[in-house]
Amino acid sequence: MINMKLKELEIAAQKFRQTDEMPVLFLGHGSPMNAIEENEFVAGFRNCAKGIQKPAAILVISAHWETKGTFVTAMERPRTIHDFGGFPKSLFDVQYPAPGSPALAFEIKKNVKKTQIGFDTAWGLDHGAWSVVKHLFPLADVPVIEMSIDYAQDARYHYDLAKELVSLRSKGVLIIGSGNMVHNLGLVAWDKLDKDSFGFDWALEASEKMKKFILSGDHKSLINFRSQGKAFDLAIPSPEHYLPLIYSLALMESKDEITIFNDKAVAGSLTMTSIKIDKG
Ligand code: ZN
Repeated sequence: MINMKLKELEIAAQKFRQTDEMPVLFLGHGSPMNAIEENEFVAGFRNCAKGIQKPAAILVISAHWETKGTFVTAMERPRTIHDFGGFPKSLFDVQYPAPGSPALAFEIKKNVKKTQIGFDTAWGLDHGAWSVVKHLFPLADVPVIEMSIDYAQDARYHYDLAKELVSLRSKGVLIIGSGNMVHNLGLVAWDKLDKDSFGFDWALEASEKMKKFILSGDHKSLINFRSQGKAFDLAIPSPEHYLPLIYSLALMESKDEITIFNDKAVAGSLTMTSIKIDKG
């Protein structure tokens, strides 16, 4: 503490007030184009925001920020990161100028005992965060921070780490996991992109099993996703889009209920399935 700058001490002293328990979300973000298109998924995001009290801050665990170790963005003004290629200029023109929240970064560091949380001042908001949060809070007037996914750790580690964030729910913090439950870009059916909904058999099989585990509270089977057979292996070729779901589920408490929405497969190998965890 002795080396902390005065400004940091001031920020650390800022308190998050006790609030009603906030919901927790997992949002299937899909194509970055969802940021600017008008479609049923965007309508689903918007609808999900209805009834959520304005948060003191938002914490996003995004599939698109993987690091060695765990970091939280701690800058006052996070930049909008356009972390993709081959999309129209109108998508690169999007800015989501929500402020950051160094105070929330400090709060998280204070709460987490499982690992050392690093403060990051270089990242910002990647499209896993802004392409969906902009539909929930279009005015960009709620502070947003991100927490990175440590790629060296397994799902059990992430589940246990997420559990240490649960007190934030009663401090006005909306926690959002942003990824896709089924996500295999190598097997995208490019000829089916225009179809309203299309999923390969294995994608639908994995999706149905995941929803069954989610609704029955069988988190253990979801954590042990590598033991669930071929359909899961195809649905989760790499874990970064799946792990944000693990974070969201870890934050569930006994009185919570789950609402599933945007439950559709697109382009064969992706699902947009999203969940809202909220007290019943
Ligand atoms: Zn993504």
